Amino acid sequence: MMTTFKNNHINALEDNMVRQMQLIAAKMEWRSGDIEGLINYYTSEAKELKKLTDARLTFIRSDGVVIGDSDYDAHEMDNHLEREEVQVALANGIGRTVRPSETMDQRMVYVAIPVANASITEPHVIRMAMSLVEVDQSIGRLTMVLIGGLILLFLFAALISYRIALGLTRPLDQITKVAKKIKNMDYRARVKVTKQNEIGELGVAINAMADSLEIQMERIKQNESQLESVLANMINGIVMIDAKGQILLMNRRAEEVLGFSARELVGRHFVEAKQQYELAQIIQESLDTRRHIREEIMFYFPEERLLELNLVPISQSGPGELGGVLLVLQDVSAIRRLERMRSEFVANVSHELKTPITAVKGFAETLLGGAVKDEETTRTFLQIIYDESERLNRLIGDILELSKIESRRVPLIFSPVELDSFISKTFRVLESEANQKGIQLHCKMEPGLFVEADEDRLRQIMMNLLSNGINYTPEGGSVSVIIDEPDNDHIRIVIKDTGIGIPKKDLPRIFERFYRVDKARSRSSGGTGLGLSIVKHLVELHKGTISVESNAEVGSTFIIELPIIQ
Ligand code: ADP
Repeated sequence: MMTTFKNNHINALEDNMVRQMQLIAAKMEWRSGDIEGLINYYTSEAKELKKLTDARLTFIRSDGVVIGDSDYDAHEMDNHLEREEVQVALANGIGRTVRPSETMDQRMVYVAIPVANASITEPHVIRMAMSLVEVDQSIGRLTMVLIGGLILLFLFAALISYRIALGLTRPLDQITKVAKKIKNMDYRARVKVTKQNEIGELGVAINAMADSLEIQMERIKQNESQLESVLANMINGIVMIDAKGQILLMNRRAEEVLGFSARELVGRHFVEAKQQYELAQIIQESLDTRRHIREEIMFYFPEERLLELNLVPISQSGPGELGGVLLVLQDVSAIRRLERMRSEFVANVSHELKTPITAVKGFAETLLGGAVKDEETTRTFLQIIYDESERLNRLIGDILELSKIESRRVPLIFSPVELDSFISKTFRVLESEANQKGIQLHCKMEPGLFVEADEDRLRQIMMNLLSNGINYTPEGGSVSVIIDEPDNDHIRIVIKDTGIGIPKKDLPRIFERFYRVDKARSRSSGGTGLGLSIVKHLVELHKGTISVESNAEVGSTFIIELPIIQ
């Protein structure tokens, strides 16, 4: 490219030189004459013209003799006829060459034109020479300018494209980052939209997507936590098993009931849970038949309990398609125990009622039959009938009382009870009974003790325990009440007798309904077997505890602890 450029430049230079020389040829005065005169004239002309053209000028005659030169002495210059440019000029009109100068050690552009004029007989040649050094220099400068310009242009272009790229890639980068964050479940990430272009629109769209994702995830999380808390707080155990038999979910209650943690079992096959063979079988059956199965199974691990199992098939993906089975576990041991207790109670009550009724009926029948003529015997019989009906009355009274207390139909009315006077009053009621049996009643306590209680119920407790004490203590014994405060919040009431005591084996059952150590003895003393049961319930209604210690032949001690303030 540079050579074309250089050639063009040289061509233009040559053309310019031609034009200048044509001007010189046209405007100059041409002379002929003797050689010395010619050399003088043309040399001075050449020097004058060089000032104007800034190029070396040489005047050459048609025979090749140099008759004037702007830079050199024409006398000393050799014949120029053989010079290429001169030859071409004489032959074709314009001769141009680029060659090293013979006098100067540099490349030169030579252009020569012939001049024909009326004042000269032979045609002359004007030759103009210009050093290529300048041309080369100016081309070098030009090249430098060009390269510099190009570099500047390149830098400028680079800067602009960088800015454009930055404008494009930075927001795209940011969008990519946000998209990645959203993928990693950070739904709060948002794109900062600054420009109103396509990229800005993309950012807005991504933000809208993130908004809706955030809302939906929030909703899902809420649902999940609701479901979780429902499952966690359910009293029934829940186990979800998919169609392949894999355990999907297990709540806290199920963990307790089955004795396995969800971490151990979730994700495994139900057979792997080393549970009862029966349970695995029922699950398999439910998966196979897709029917609701209800069953009660006794479990011995982690503890003995009766579990009611409900296996409900669940459909998941589509209607009629089995998603698995939901196993609902309910511990029915307590319910069954209660049921058993209730039926036992009914049986007991019937039995207890039957005895006096049978007696009443029997004696009444005998009397009605008129078999007894003896007034004494009749009296005895009637007395028995009276006593038995009295017992019946007490029994029914106690049963009603107990059921009233158990069902908590009658609320307690709490008030501060001053224990000193309370015990005195209670003793007064029991005094005659104790005196009859020759039993002493003692009370030991600091004065001024109070307890917040339902006074009537508290009296019922004391009456029951004290009359038991009197009943089961032989003549000459004593029954004492000792009251103190074991700590600031509680009051302790100890009822201690010197009676027959309770055998060790009977101690744990003593508070059960109708439980009596010695049936005959209890009956003869008019007991119903419900007294301690009622006492225990009443103490518990006061949020207190009752315990018993006893040694056969030494006596029994009942210890009640009640909170001072309810
Ligand atoms: P009962 O009406 O038969 O007294 P309770 O429920 O009051 O019924 O007592 C249950 C049984 O506990 C009594 O039958 C008796 O065998 C025994 N018992 C209760 N208190 C005493 C005591 N202070 N000394 C010995 N045995 C007692």
